Amino acid sequence: MSTPTVTPADLERAIRNVPDFPKPGIQFKDITPVLQDPRLFAASVELLTADLAPGSIQAVVGIDARGFIFAAAAAFKLGAGLVPIRKSGKLPYRTFEQSYDLEYGSNTLAVHVDAVPSGSRVLLLDDLLATGGTAQAAAALLTRLGAQVVRIGFLVELSFLKGRTRLRDFPVQSLVVY
Ligand code: AMP
Repeated sequence: MSTPTVTPADLERAIRNVPDFPKPGIQFKDITPVLQDPRLFAASVELLTADLAPGSIQAVVGIDARGFIFAAAAAFKLGAGLVPIRKSGKLPYRTFEQSYDLEYGSNTLAVHVDAVPSGSRVLLLDDLLATGGTAQAAAALLTRLGAQVVRIGFLVELSFLKGRTRLRDFPVQSLVVY
């Protein structure tokens, strides 16, 4: 008997909602139950890469920190390199930096200046799309490197925060939409 196909509804059932984490009022979408289940983890990576032929992109870019998990697995599957976009101050070599506004204060992301050759086709991945500020800043860094962002993929999208409007210059894929 063949293994039943995993659907986005199966992923949705596994994602755990943790109220008031990391601060009051935030409904944190905990994706660790997806990672713990080998079928769900494999299926999430499969769904984020299904239409991309191995060799068709040069790098998968993951956003600090949960994006790294999906990006690493996707890079391995696609025969592509892995590029981390990290919070400012974490990457050791020369970097480009991009700041963006949060509800209170701001945040800065960084990428190594030589992370991908200009003209590279890249897939950008993170665990969750909320307001879109993080992914928008990451995509701006990749554009600055001369990379072509083929798609921005997420396991989860909080559609009521309208993050897609900030990413309108790029194709966006999300597996589970709330
Ligand atoms: P944003 O820049 O608003 O789209 O926020 C996206 C980033 O913040 C991602 O890296 C997520 O991991 C994290 N994040 C924001 N909101 C949540 C949430 N409700 N649950 C889990 N992670 C979140």
